[in-house]
Amino acid sequence: MVRSILDALDRHAAERPGARALDDFTYADLRAASLQVAARLRAAGVAAGDRVAIYAENRPGFALAYLGGLRAGAIVVPVNVLYRTSDLEHVLDDAAAAAVCVSEASAPFAARAGRTLIDLHEIERIARDANAPELADPPEPAADAVAILIYTSGTTGRSKGAMLTHGNLAAIGEQVVEAWRWTAADTLLLTLPLFHVHGLGAGLNGTLVAGGRAILRERFDAPTVLAILAGGEVSMFFGVPTMYVRLLASAAPAARFDAMRLFVSGSAALPAPVFEEFERRFGIAILERYGSTEFGFALSNRYDGPRYAGTVGFPLPHVDVRLADPQGNDVAAGEAGEILVHGPNVCAGYWNNPEASAAAFVRDAQDRRWYKSGDLATYDPQRGYTINGRLKELVISGGFNVYPIEVETELLRLPGVLAAAVVGAPDPARGEIPVAFLEVDGAFDADASLATLRERLASFKVPKALYPVEALPRNAMGKVEKPKLRTLLER
Ligand code: ATP
Repeated sequence: MVRSILDALDRHAAERPGARALDDFTYADLRAASLQVAARLRAAGVAAGDRVAIYAENRPGFALAYLGGLRAGAIVVPVNVLYRTSDLEHVLDDAAAAAVCVSEASAPFAARAGRTLIDLHEIERIARDANAPELADPPEPAADAVAILIYTSGTTGRSKGAMLTHGNLAAIGEQVVEAWRWTAADTLLLTLPLFHVHGLGAGLNGTLVAGGRAILRERFDAPTVLAILAGGEVSMFFGVPTMYVRLLASAAPAARFDAMRLFVSGSAALPAPVFEEFERRFGIAILERYGSTEFGFALSNRYDGPRYAGTVGFPLPHVDVRLADPQGNDVAAGEAGEILVHGPNVCAGYWNNPEASAAAFVRDAQDRRWYKSGDLATYDPQRGYTINGRLKELVISGGFNVYPIEVETELLRLPGVLAAAVVGAPDPARGEIPVAFLEVDGAFDADASLATLRERLASFKVPKALYPVEALPRNAMGKVEKPKLRTLLER
């Protein structure tokens, strides 16, 4: 058991100082850099408990600022680098950030917020300078002290800062390391943004807990990623579903990934046809897992398989999951219910937001605290959990439940459909009716598609309209922003 991410870093730095951790930085380098950057933050007036934002694209300086912030006892606030004006101001104001670590590209936007700016180039220089002073008396982080605030992506409302403690981050890292048999021999290709729990909590922290190496890339670019994966140096890749769609579109027919032992997908539902095509073409079953900013990860397909398309497997080690009805009782076997999560990974609540914190958690008869995910799932003892989508996105048509993921999966099996999103449109007779927004190519035929859907789906699930669009609106994680689609319907 590690007590914190810094504890993991220190242990590997003591045991294997010369082993590479991040790009060419060794564990010894990273440990020294964390103390040097902590000293730099102190010099900028950052005291223990202050919030330090990092608002930048993926680069080594991001990881160094993060580790330096933790070492200084600050609360690190990774900010979505795509945020501008009001989103950015909301996060910096809500967190009352004392300083913002920026890149050349992000600095002009942060400058408008009028905060102390620290350049990540300078942080990288400090980390490479053997003479840069180290913080002499770094505080020992308490397990229940807040380590980071990650603001939820806000796809369902105003962005809230989930408070993840040092204990939470250690638990999240250990859970995925144990479940995915991650070892010091692994090298992860990390193209996911570090401002999100997928890239930071699984990618970077998992690497530091396992004692392995991560190769960091600023962004996902399919041809570059394919070349690196085929190169033999990397053993693991973590992606979001849209990345797998792009890898399939770009890969040569003869592509092989012989050194790869694990491909993981998460952050949104991996469409079954994508899982199936990846397996057919490369002989690789992508391991899908389910997670959220508030608890890191809760469910994962088993490393030893079998891995089933459209399922997210079983609870991770030390995590409890149950499915509840609206009254909070366990649902009957096979029924859909809201996913509730309990474990050392579950966040302490939302920063500055007691109402949202109170609404997000329930206590059971044993006084155990459960996070209410707002996601619906069903459970099958053989295949594990299947996510049915967000409670808020469930379409109720004439009293019948339509789970958008089920309809989207069928849409993706139609000729010419590249991406699909199903939402509820207001309807005077049935309350709501399902309609679909589609990215299509020349092979798409609306009438033939509807005829096929009528054969495959119950009539109330068949979309009443198919709207081809140039591109579905997506957030930085590639997730379709359904509220924007519903706004289109109101026009
Ligand atoms: P907000 O909470 O502000 O709406 P968000 O939920 O998009 O933002 P994240 O914490 O990034 O913020 O995403 C977590 C959500 O992503 C989960 O609650 C779930 O709806 C979805 N999700 C994650 N993994 C999967 C998966 N494997 N299958 C289906 N959905 C998933």
